[in-house]
Amino acid sequence: MNSKDRNDAILYGRRAFMRDGSLFLLSAGVGLSQGLSSFAEEPKAQLRFGLVTDLHYADKAPGGSRHYRETLAKLEEAALQFAKEKPSHVVELGDFIDAADSVATEKKYLGRVNKDFAELPGKKHYVLGNHCVYTLTKDEFLDGVGQKKSYYSFDDRGFHFVVLDACFRNDGKPYGRKNFQWTDPNIPQEQVEWLQADLKKATGKTIVFVHQRLDVSNHYGVKNAAQIRRVLEQSGKVLAVFQGHSHKNEVKEINGIHYCVHRAMIEGSGKENNGYSIMDLFADGTIRITGFRKQEKYNWS
Ligand SMILES: [Zn+2]
Repeated sequence: MNSKDRNDAILYGRRAFMRDGSLFLLSAGVGLSQGLSSFAEEPKAQLRFGLVTDLHYADKAPGGSRHYRETLAKLEEAALQFAKEKPSHVVELGDFIDAADSVATEKKYLGRVNKDFAELPGKKHYVLGNHCVYTLTKDEFLDGVGQKKSYYSFDDRGFHFVVLDACFRNDGKPYGRKNFQWTDPNIPQEQVEWLQADLKKATGKTIVFVHQRLDVSNHYGVKNAAQIRRVLEQSGKVLAVFQGHSHKNEVKEINGIHYCVHRAMIEGSGKENNGYSIMDLFADGTIRITGFRKQEKYNWS
């Protein structure tokens, strides 16, 4: 058989097969070429995170839709799930506590909620929210949770992670002791330059965590969000930004970066009005968010 004959035989064979086997074979072929998920084991996540936000814990009566004391029970449910899922890191995206009458009482609220949060599996990360540093200063909050810096980065299994701090006034002064309006979050020039340098030397696909939003220009947005988005875009390394602050599920894609608002834990009474998630990161850059209760699920390839 010469090569032309062989090709004809293969072609004929395939056609004949399609005639007899009809579309079954075709669909099986498509399934195999598109991904092995239904034929082989699912690819394993490279790295797993637990995410929560806007816990607003305080030992005080509810205000509107915010049931401050219920946060502990909601966090307990998340803790049971995280114990099963075994994340390597857990990030709270800000507004960990809600206002108290005094600094001493506020420190008690922080100590109480962090007693439970600190026991979650994996390394814990605290993103500063406006409520974290309403009564307390940044140093008081950070001392209370045992974190050195309000903005920093870290690496794990080939990925890079950046925690940002937008709790600065327009004039560059850090939030603390009720010295700010919540509608005035900014990332000062010094932090922008740090971010630029950090992303430049980063070697892995990058995820950013920040409380106030980088994807909107309304009251919930960081005032210089457009400048920060440009820095993230220019690095060519950032896959997604996770935010809190708005208390509701929302996602946007801007110039190839996913901006996700995580659902608040505080909103509403009862265990169904909770929100927490597991984020799985895959070597190819796929991000899978498995949301629980009111938190949405996402899969970005
Ligand atoms: Zn909040």
